[in-house]
Amino acid sequence: MNQNSQISDSVQKIENSRASHPKSVREMTFRELLREINWVSAIFLVVTPLLAVILLPIYMYFHGWSWGLTAFLVILYSISNLSITVCYHRYFAHRSFDVPMWVQVMFLLVASMAFQGSALRWAADHRRHHREVDTDEDPYTINKGFFHAHLGWMLFKDRHPDVDVIPRDLATHKWVQLQHNYYIVVAIFMGFVVPGLIGMALGFGFWPGVLVGGLTRIVLSQHSTFLINSAAHTFGNQPYTDKNTARDSFTMAFLTFGEGYHNYHHYFQADYRNGVRWYQWDPSKWVIASMAIVGLAKRLKKVSAEEILKARIAMEEKRILARGANQERVRLLRERILAAQTRWKAIQADIKRYKEEHSWNQVLVEKRAELELARIEMNNALIAWKTYVRTWLRAQTA
Ligand SMILES: [Zn+2]
Ligand SMILES: [Zn+2]
Repeated sequence: MNQNSQISDSVQKIENSRASHPKSVREMTFRELLREINWVSAIFLVVTPLLAVILLPIYMYFHGWSWGLTAFLVILYSISNLSITVCYHRYFAHRSFDVPMWVQVMFLLVASMAFQGSALRWAADHRRHHREVDTDEDPYTINKGFFHAHLGWMLFKDRHPDVDVIPRDLATHKWVQLQHNYYIVVAIFMGFVVPGLIGMALGFGFWPGVLVGGLTRIVLSQHSTFLINSAAHTFGNQPYTDKNTARDSFTMAFLTFGEGYHNYHHYFQADYRNGVRWYQWDPSKWVIASMAIVGLAKRLKKVSAEEILKARIAMEEKRILARGANQERVRLLRERILAAQTRWKAIQADIKRYKEEHSWNQVLVEKRAELELARIEMNNALIAWKTYVRTWLRAQTA
């Protein structure tokens, strides 16, 4: 069998698993419902938390607990989560940066430990989530409820086939294909056997390694990722867009390794950052930036500060106009910011050119002073805007 037919076989398998189901779950008979259950996924998602809750206390009762085991759990949990956020999400699903082939293979291997399906399947679902967000075609739409978005969608077979969602760039990727075809074997090895072996090497023993670094870590890590589909579409604010349910929240970002700045992410999905400001909690962004520093990641996609500011201003403008703010005043305040920004950028470009031309010093000094003045004007314009917006937003809630 040649490579192309293998790829189309695999794509076909995914497409077949998305057989058409016109009836809604509520309209089905019990027998029909049973046929709709995705048994492998459902049993795994129900049995693993139960096993962890039963086996972990038994282990602790007989063998006690140690700081070493806590560290072991936290480290594997962090690797597991980051492998999903950095590798599956920001690399394979969004292609927000480039890495060499050997790093891609490592990504596929490590991310298999999280038991969230193959990269091909994960990225297919995720790209559809972005494209069809909040509609029936969104596999984890929040509009079917918190439970559906968090976990429920994985208990049943995909009910909305869409042939175009198979990511062709990934379907033709030799290693993605291999991981997809042998996913269960790779996942069991990386998710259970490797933690067992590490447990053995660290002196905890193989089975305690499987229980803590495998089972418990998988359950915790899965639910952390699932929060992005449920809680990050429910709690928080919407600074960039209110056209979908995605929200920004520090708490969610903290619990999901940076993915909680989900409103930003849905607006600028290609950006390698989700927490776009330097102080926003986004360990996934820090990992990618660190990879870039050591030369492992290249061409990091980044939305410009101006674009981000424009999106924020547009959203704030929409909000205050809806509350009755003066349209002309809003326009003037907004244009003042944009004019200051344009001027600041123009002077910066001038300075760069003068430096290249080695112009005499007085010109540069003058330009630097102009730049500083433009910066002050930009800050003042922003303060004026923020004050006006805040006053209107407060007035509404008072
Ligand atoms: Zn989302
Ligand atoms: Zn995404």
